[in-house]
Amino acid sequence: MERVHNFNAGPAVLPEAVLLEAQQDLFNYKGQGMSVMEMSHRSKEYEAIIFDAHDRAKRIYGLGDDWEVLFLQGGATMQFYMVPMAYAAEGRIANFINTGVWATKAYKEARKIGKAVHLAASSEADKFNHIPKTFTLSENPAYLHITNNNTIYGTEWHFDPEVPAGVPLIADMSSNFMSKPIDIQKYSLVYAGAQKNVGPAGCTVVLIRKDMLDKMNPGLPTMLDYKIHLDNQSMHNTPPCFVIYVIGLVEKWIENQGGLAAVYKNNIAKAKYIYDVLDCDCGFYKGHAQKDSRSLMNITFRLPNEELEDLFVKEAKKNGMVGLKGHRDVGGCRASTYNALPLKACQDLAAFMLDFAKQHG
Ligand code: PMP
Repeated sequence: MERVHNFNAGPAVLPEAVLLEAQQDLFNYKGQGMSVMEMSHRSKEYEAIIFDAHDRAKRIYGLGDDWEVLFLQGGATMQFYMVPMAYAAEGRIANFINTGVWATKAYKEARKIGKAVHLAASSEADKFNHIPKTFTLSENPAYLHITNNNTIYGTEWHFDPEVPAGVPLIADMSSNFMSKPIDIQKYSLVYAGAQKNVGPAGCTVVLIRKDMLDKMNPGLPTMLDYKIHLDNQSMHNTPPCFVIYVIGLVEKWIENQGGLAAVYKNNIAKAKYIYDVLDCDCGFYKGHAQKDSRSLMNITFRLPNEELEDLFVKEAKKNGMVGLKGHRDVGGCRASTYNALPLKACQDLAAFMLDFAKQHG
């Protein structure tokens, strides 16, 4: 059976080369007589897999000895409370920039923990259609948290916010992880659910600068303690073995493409096909994000009415393009164009969009 053009927001499309390699290894991993799913995580064979995924992540982001990579569970959603539990405290205020649904969730979760929380900026009044250019930190900021790509509204940070020296910048990069080069030294902690750009669901990749380990609040529950995970090489308890194995394959695929610079170049080219249609004279489609905040990963747009939006999604599916319905919170349509989505998918979608506009405009 042919594979479809998969525009799902996450879990999302994976590189075909990765799926085929996983398929080949599934029954009998490199002569072990068992699959990765059946291996002990304490075996030498599995250690080689998880250490390889760890080392590749470090290489891809150019991380030196002052950085570590962790493979955790609980989703990016668990980081919404793991971060404030570790770093917010009496007199050390968690700061947030609210740019959408996930940023709001992170902010609310920090408030639940009962520490002082400060909203440094928000684009909520404009339906989260842009990334704020300025922000005001509280006194004694513990850190500034941003959501680097807003999966639901389709906006993305194309610059790094400048924080004063000593204020850690923490980012949720779930939906644009490993999609472009970043100046990692500006950040102190980055986390990402794997299920968009780097693997199947079930693992959260955390990049943490080692100085953050000394700043943690004392007495944290074991599973919320970054240092315990680090000391145990992400195997304090049973890790999501198979997911981490696939992450390693995706990382190998990224490195084979030429790394983040090459992947980024492709992502720009892919998104351009669709944004060009949103900008075309036909006036049929209306993009949600302001131009300077447009996401390269999630492209959100409306059609003249909801009936046409429903028809668009149905007709696209008939043409082998799936996952184009917008998130239930905002409606409209969304095309997610993660790393693994081939250029051809974006070309075909752009052609379909122009055709649909001609027929129904
Ligand atoms: N942050 C962002 C930006 C997301 O897009 C998502 C998931 N769509 C999450 C956090 C939550 O991730 P998880 O389901 O892994 O907890």
